[in-house]
Amino acid sequence: MKVFKFGGASVKDAPAVRNMTAIVKSFSNEPLLIVVSAMGKTTNALERIIQLYKTGGDYVAEINALKAFHQTIVKALFTDAGPIQEALDEITEEMYMHLEQSGDEDWQYDKIVSLGEVLSSVIVHRYFLQEGLSCTWADARNLVRTDSTFREGKVDWEQTEVNIRSLKEKLEHTLVITQGFIGGDADSQTTTLGREGSDYTAAIFASCLQAESVTIWKDVPGVMNADPKRIPNAEVFPELPYKEAAEMTYYGASVIHPKTIKPLALKNIPLYVKSFLNPDLPGTKIHDCRIDHLPPLIVFKENQCLVSCKVTDYTFVDEEQLTTIFHALSELNIRLNVMQNSAISFSFCIDFRENKLNALIGRLQEQFEVYYNTNLTLITIKNYDEHSFESYRKQSGILMEQSSRSTLQVLVRM
Ligand code: ASP
Ligand code: MG
Repeated sequence: MKVFKFGGASVKDAPAVRNMTAIVKSFSNEPLLIVVSAMGKTTNALERIIQLYKTGGDYVAEINALKAFHQTIVKALFTDAGPIQEALDEITEEMYMHLEQSGDEDWQYDKIVSLGEVLSSVIVHRYFLQEGLSCTWADARNLVRTDSTFREGKVDWEQTEVNIRSLKEKLEHTLVITQGFIGGDADSQTTTLGREGSDYTAAIFASCLQAESVTIWKDVPGVMNADPKRIPNAEVFPELPYKEAAEMTYYGASVIHPKTIKPLALKNIPLYVKSFLNPDLPGTKIHDCRIDHLPPLIVFKENQCLVSCKVTDYTFVDEEQLTTIFHALSELNIRLNVMQNSAISFSFCIDFRENKLNALIGRLQEQFEVYYNTNLTLITIKNYDEHSFESYRKQSGILMEQSSRSTLQVLVRM
């Protein structure tokens, strides 16, 4: 059996849903499990709704807009929109109910934000049925078991495997459609796996079902060596080793969610990244292979912040001081993207998140003079060649630079 994942862009409007249905139809003579994300930018809209509710803004208008967005899709797709309209009303009611509930913020966030995937999967499921596809709707909240870390659920693989394997028999007779990004804890409370987590969901299902492959359908022709919006002559990789793909995601390539590769590599399940706009193109195959000469891979990671801790008393940066810094970072759950030390200072680059940065600075200021710059971009060139090495080092606005034998990183104000 195969696992297909369709992200938000592939179900962003009625023509997109028709297009993804045509793709599914062309594979429907084999066992298939389909993971869908929320439609278009629904998850961002749901985050806005929560924010508006909390700050006394007009969340009702935002809910109405989101409902209208889905209604437009439904009206264009269905000959009889009645039953699906009822489902849409129910899910909107649930949204209001969860907003008004009091409780932990992250717990509430997951209950609300997960509804985007629920809505999307309900609509696509009904549309499949209308189009004559035999298909079962499965609720990922009861299948993907996580701990109770809301917004960043950690998968309980043992229980998840038991749950997901119960789908095996169904998959012999029908397609199964489920939701990306969402799961549930041992108390049946909804959790999510972190933003953009639907790719990871596809890998979880594939691993538990020992699928023959996973295909992520995207609006790009495959995994490319740079973002084509920035670098017009970017090329598609026909194939990539798991390790290379995993490292790309570490440096910030957003084409695949960082957690996706590991479960697949462990079971040797190939991952295809293909274009839903042009399904006949070969795309990229990520698998266990060796490639001797990869072209330079360029990743831009935006919204970076450079923090420098300076020693104030004419001593040098020593291991004890570094321990203090690392301790603060680890306690605040902040990941370092690059770091560098000099005699009297230690500098590092992190993703900018205002509340985390403030908490960090508060702690570091007890011992250091702290400086920081925001709005920076970290450019990583992996497998650089002479030309790319020289050209990225020559640009203006570089605040920090580092290179190894294979990788160059420059932190720039662009
Ligand atoms: N809908 C979720 C998000 O936008 C999950 C996903 O798209 O992968 O973050
Ligand atoms: Mg997405």
